[in-house]
Amino acid sequence: MAKVIQAIRGMNDILPEQTPAWLHIERIFQSLMQQYSYQHIRLPVVEKTELFKRSIGEVTDIVEKEMYTFDDRNGDSLTLRPEGTAGCVRAGIQNGLLHNQQHRLWYQGPMFRHERPQKGRYRQFHQLGVETFGLSGPDIDAELIAMSAQLWQKLRIDDHVELEINSLGTIECRALYRNELVEYFSEHQSQLDEDSQRRLHTNPLRILDSKNPDMQVLNENAPKLVEYLDTESRQHFEQLCHLLDCLGIKYRINPRLVRGLDYYSKTVFEWVTSSLGSQGTICAGGRFDGLVEQLGGKATPAMGFAIGLERLVLMLETVGVTPRDHQPHLYLVVGGDDCVAPAMKLAEELRQADEKLRIQMNCGGGSIKSQMKRADKSGANFAVILGDIELQNNSVAIKNLRAETEQRLIAQAELASWLIENIN
Ligand code: ATP
Ligand code: MG
Repeated sequence: MAKVIQAIRGMNDILPEQTPAWLHIERIFQSLMQQYSYQHIRLPVVEKTELFKRSIGEVTDIVEKEMYTFDDRNGDSLTLRPEGTAGCVRAGIQNGLLHNQQHRLWYQGPMFRHERPQKGRYRQFHQLGVETFGLSGPDIDAELIAMSAQLWQKLRIDDHVELEINSLGTIECRALYRNELVEYFSEHQSQLDEDSQRRLHTNPLRILDSKNPDMQVLNENAPKLVEYLDTESRQHFEQLCHLLDCLGIKYRINPRLVRGLDYYSKTVFEWVTSSLGSQGTICAGGRFDGLVEQLGGKATPAMGFAIGLERLVLMLETVGVTPRDHQPHLYLVVGGDDCVAPAMKLAEELRQADEKLRIQMNCGGGSIKSQMKRADKSGANFAVILGDIELQNNSVAIKNLRAETEQRLIAQAELASWLIENIN
């Protein structure tokens, strides 16, 4: 036998058993985007490597060790996108969407990072992302947070997530803070782990972001960025907190929330859960007012977030609210050969009668007994049997597969309205 070829480690097949949860989330997300009047954008999966180096930052986990980078046949260095913001900004600049305009955009799709695969962390994963451009106030920050809060409510996981927020201030006040931080960590250099040693002079803020438990205490006692905020950033942050209070959205100010990418300024936030082990962030975002200019466009304020779909799916599975809308309402059991065409016709008529009706027709023949087994396995509530006798008198037999009730006969013409009444 030929050798079986396996998928790449950390790049998963998403099987039919799992896709209902994916589709459920995607559908709810899309309708939410319509409700808030956000527009959809579709972007390439591959970009020039330079784009990510310049936007995400050279001294970040992503650029240092997680990117899938390769030379294409022309010798250009390309990278499978590790996130969506850089490409979205690139597209906005290139297509003249940003300058002096306001945009609220959303995207979705696969992202690629060479990380150690584990629960909630993969090498190909998927994000739902939102980016807004041309809006500089705390109102849009609050809108994005409120919108994500709505999503958790609609997915019925709102009891299992918490919001953390922080402000990173402007680049200028971050520079001041950076000096303080370097001084503090230098005094405790012997307690720094290897990554933090390396970051001490390249990107000391990232030390605060460390996931190493041994670094906890040191990080907790570090100087706090909120104390170094400039007036404008402080006001922006206070107004955001006020808006969240008014909207009844609970949050925790986490002074150590610095996010793993260089391009953020002012507001940053994460939605975290304790139900997924250490991969606890399901949504992360922030303001990136400097990025458009950094990538060659005219200065444009911007704010966005990204949701990790795999983690959200895991949450639905853990918290137990997975949808069942992939299962048919009705499984159509077909008698002899003469019944195939009329059964098919009936199935088509039912689907046309109401688009909510989910009908699976038995294909490939089989005895009534084996068809009834398939009907049960399909998850349908009802088996509808069209055999020779029913065919002769234009009726069908209905059997409830989930309750002990008598099988009953009804006219084919009445089946659609009977089903619509009985499916919920
Ligand atoms: P983490 O701290 O978990 O590594 P991150 O800060 O690198 O996350 P972002 O770049 O902010 O993540 O991406 C936004 C979201 O995408 C994360 O909050 C998470 O839900 C999801 N995500 C990031 N990396 C992965 C991955 N390798 N596998 C699955 N989901 C991921
Ligand atoms: Mg990461």
